Amino acid sequence: MISVQDALAHLFALCTPLDRETVPLRAASGRVLAETAMARLVQPPFDASAMDGYAVRDADTTAGAGFEVIGESAAGHGFSGTVSQGTAVRIFTGAPLPAGADRVIIQEDVSRDGDRITLTCTPSDNRNIRPAGNDFSPTDGLTAPRRLSPQDVALLAAMNHAEVSVGRRPVVAIISTGDELVLPGETPGPSQIIASNAFGLAAMVEQAGGIARMLPIAPDDMTLLRATFEMAMEADVIVSIGGASVGDHDLVGKVVEELGMERAFYKVAMRPGKPLMAGRLGDTVMLGLPGNPVSAMITARLFMLPVLDALQGLPPQAAPRQNAVLLQPVTENGPREHYMRAILTAEGVQPFARQDSSLLSILSNANALLVRPPHDPAREAGETVDVIRL
Ligand code: AMP
Ligand code: MG
Repeated sequence: MISVQDALAHLFALCTPLDRETVPLRAASGRVLAETAMARLVQPPFDASAMDGYAVRDADTTAGAGFEVIGESAAGHGFSGTVSQGTAVRIFTGAPLPAGADRVIIQEDVSRDGDRITLTCTPSDNRNIRPAGNDFSPTDGLTAPRRLSPQDVALLAAMNHAEVSVGRRPVVAIISTGDELVLPGETPGPSQIIASNAFGLAAMVEQAGGIARMLPIAPDDMTLLRATFEMAMEADVIVSIGGASVGDHDLVGKVVEELGMERAFYKVAMRPGKPLMAGRLGDTVMLGLPGNPVSAMITARLFMLPVLDALQGLPPQAAPRQNAVLLQPVTENGPREHYMRAILTAEGVQPFARQDSSLLSILSNANALLVRPPHDPAREAGETVDVIRL
């Protein structure tokens, strides 16, 4: 058995980032930026007004001063003349500041009578101008690698990028194994259950920028299981569910060995999820997850997601942890790292009383995993512990 950390290191060693592709900006959200994108223009492109008001010379702005309004500068329609002593240009937010002006007085600070305005107070220190390049200029950019958020997409658009270079989406083949499994919507027979894991994993893959290919359920039969794996070999990642421990019907290990898998590890010292297998089948990363639904989802969170990130070009990184205050005592932990389903609030973290690895209802209500290191002693309420957000 190896530690979670060592298992991750082995997995990352199997991952070579996939090639890049160029996508239109509309398809870029959630993808990993592969090449740093420099700004293609200056933003704002000109000194712009930050307020609705009047563009004037700052030197003229003593309380009670009068100005003649000589024109207008609106967004998209600048004023071509020049502001000189005692003149003002009506200006709106985002409009170019006319030549000669170096201050915008807000409309609330003037009274207007026809083409004349009078400054009714001493204006504030704020000149209400957004200088050219205030946001960015061509020496600024969005640095790769980085998973693009909607905010990033807005910035890329403002920088005048219509398309960007991103890591290719990993194709993940998901194989459910077991004679007992039927698809949601079917009527399970007397000893059958629903193949739930594949659906949770497919959703997780898609959220992480991958493309999920759900293969037909493979029965516990060497020939059929082998045929299913052969169908999956073109994927970038194969994720199998179940059949990975040492029972008579646990055939995944045998099949992938026959297919020539170089095994990286077989058992990881963690709870839930001990029977966890990984290796390389040709160019494909193979991850054999345990069948218990909670084990499958948690091992996918801890191992599959970092693999998908690495394949898309992000630096190899374990699931990020944060500190939280423990809200109730927990007993001593055994030799395996324990990932307890828990609820994290502003007050702290509260593990669920029931931690069985078959309980999807508990996992669905959890929003965090409380991490207990191997042999962690009993902990009291109020102590600081590590958590991973779900
Ligand atoms: P196994 O590792 O194949 O022995 O599976 C462990 C447990 O997980 C058994 O109770 C299986 O019925 C269950 N299981 C296996 N695969 C799935 C799946 N795709 N969806 C839901 N439960 C599963
Ligand atoms: Mg099974």
